[in-house]
Amino acid sequence: MEPKYKRVILKISGEALAGDEKFGLDGDTLKNVARQVKEVHELGVQVAIVVGGGNFWRGRTSKDMDKATADYMGMLATVINSLALQEAIESVGVQTRVQTAIEMREIAEPYIRRKAVHHLEGGKVVIFGAGTGNPFFSTDTTAALRAAEIDADVILLAKKVDAVYSDDPETNPDAVRYDELTHYEVLEKDLKVMDSTAASLCRDNDITIHVFGISDDGNVMKAVCGEKIGTVIR
Ligand code: UDP
Repeated sequence: MEPKYKRVILKISGEALAGDEKFGLDGDTLKNVARQVKEVHELGVQVAIVVGGGNFWRGRTSKDMDKATADYMGMLATVINSLALQEAIESVGVQTRVQTAIEMREIAEPYIRRKAVHHLEGGKVVIFGAGTGNPFFSTDTTAALRAAEIDADVILLAKKVDAVYSDDPETNPDAVRYDELTHYEVLEKDLKVMDSTAASLCRDNDITIHVFGISDDGNVMKAVCGEKIGTVIR
């Protein structure tokens, strides 16, 4: 297999780590993700990971709570997932570093762009936790921001669903599946693949996004090698 990309941001939603459940972490899923990361790492691809927190908490689902506080809770949830991923990836023999956008030096490094790039060049997988560090943003926006900052070739958007659809395919059997889209179409059609802040940032910085399902073994490899799976947004 010949990789198409040299440096990638792998964005994993929190929900994708919960396996068949909606909540928490599933051990087998973590192992599967770790194996998939190891496979592409062995090809020499530099892998940075942005992980979501929706399997524990999302700011927007809190009803009467202060919005900023609810978002900080969501960012902390992404740190739990970062540490779980770190454990899983190191247990298959790949060195990692977790960098958080909110300082918590006892458990992770603070996010320092140049250091992150240094780790990647040294063959370590870097996991970015705590989102952007700011409330009112998402981890998809974090992926777009970090991709622009570290000059990644692509965002691999690993989800529970296998592609971008016009509607939720689980509830609407008529939902249309897209193989290719432009950033503009994502914004114009108001597709739920990512929030508009993240989509705009990708559009403005010309960042390609490859959306696919993480549960199928080997999909990260296929996406890294440019195979036609899921949906490509560019
Ligand atoms: N969050 C935030 N700022 C960020 C990134 C995340 O406030 O820069 C919070 C927000 O509340 C969000 C939660 O963290 O709902 C979890 O992230 P996200 O919803 O993106 O996770 P995913 O849906 O990918 O699991």
